[in-house]
Amino acid sequence: MDGRQSFLQDDDDDSLLFEKLQEHVLERYPNPERKGCIDHTTLETWVYSPRKLDLSDPKYLHVLKCAECTRELIELRKQRDARRKAQLGNQAVRARNWRWAGLAAVLVCSIALGGVAYWRSHFPTSSTAALPATPVALTIDLSQAGTTRGGETSAVPPVALPRRVVAAHILLPYFSPGGKYVVSVTTDRNGTSEKAIGRAVANVQGIHTDLTVALDLRSLPSGTYFLSTTHEGDPASYFYPLTVK
Ligand SMILES: [Zn+2]
Repeated sequence: MDGRQSFLQDDDDDSLLFEKLQEHVLERYPNPERKGCIDHTTLETWVYSPRKLDLSDPKYLHVLKCAECTRELIELRKQRDARRKAQLGNQAVRARNWRWAGLAAVLVCSIALGGVAYWRSHFPTSSTAALPATPVALTIDLSQAGTTRGGETSAVPPVALPRRVVAAHILLPYFSPGGKYVVSVTTDRNGTSEKAIGRAVANVQGIHTDLTVALDLRSLPSGTYFLSTTHEGDPASYFYPLTVK
């Protein structure tokens, strides 16, 4: 298919080129006397059933030199697209069928979307990004905790953490086993609602067990949570009340 034919058939390719050509024709080829114009019915067929026409026929090149026919085609396409839009209400089909008439709108949308993407990448709306990624080192002392599994905790004041990346040095309850732990922040005691999670290996020295874990709390709304610790060899988790500020 040569370029001329693909232009005339309003192919899927080169949409931008079509628009430029269209602008060019509208500007440069006014034809108020409608000299050599293609009749309205044929233009209608062109828009609605182009396959019924032999668009490679050189006579159709007239529209490339006639602002009036071009304008008529634009108008017909608008009507067609409006009709299809009403029929289908389908955005994908609309976008596909919009060519000359709808291209500007599509381009504006693309530019707008591009702008949004640019905006998002450069000015993230999430408050997460506004908070520094530098970890805050904190110690959480759970050593006195006399916890019951999945149950109430006692003898440990509620833990408070900032909405930051926290490098938490956690003193686990006395006699806790060493080894791998998963530390998470949850909204309930089921442990199914993890909002932040970190893994660490705990060291044991006598009755003391401690670990250091990184938790990213920047995206968490302020509020009350649970800090949960789970030892790799023990499916049960321990939950401690936690406040994120
Ligand atoms: Zn014409």
